[in-house]
Amino acid sequence: MMQAEPSNCLFCRIARGEIPSRRVFEDEDVVVFHDIHPAAPVHLLIAPRRHTDSLITAGPGDQALLGKMLLLAPRLAHEQGATDGFRLVVNNGPGGGQEVPHLHIHVLGGPQPWRQMSTGR
Ligand code: AMP
Ligand code: ZN
Repeated sequence: MMQAEPSNCLFCRIARGEIPSRRVFEDEDVVVFHDIHPAAPVHLLIAPRRHTDSLITAGPGDQALLGKMLLLAPRLAHEQGATDGFRLVVNNGPGGGQEVPHLHIHVLGGPQPWRQMSTGR
């Protein structure tokens, strides 16, 4: 897969603060922000600061970073209101439905209003 040029990459630009985002966490390795088109009441994106396209282009050197990203998910999901669980989605490459070619983990959770509508609960 073609490596996106980080200077033009949307999530690199968000990580550098060149494009605004609703950040909920950041440190030297990762940034976490609200998805601009949330698919659930809680919808966060966990992205590494260092550019890699996806898990397809990630390598052994990314092992600790990937573990860190996974372990951030329960804490941030809970802080954002997903107190009884959450799901993670990682789209990889065009065949995996990835639209932004900078590795990220979707964190989805919270009450699900569409379920309440269908069940009347
Ligand atoms: P994916 O299909 O896994 O690449 O998901 C990309 C996600 O990025 C989508 O859910 C978009 O809604 C989200 N997105 C696109 N642009 C922005 C942005 N400027 N700020 C926050 N999220 C964005
Ligand atoms: Zn990038």
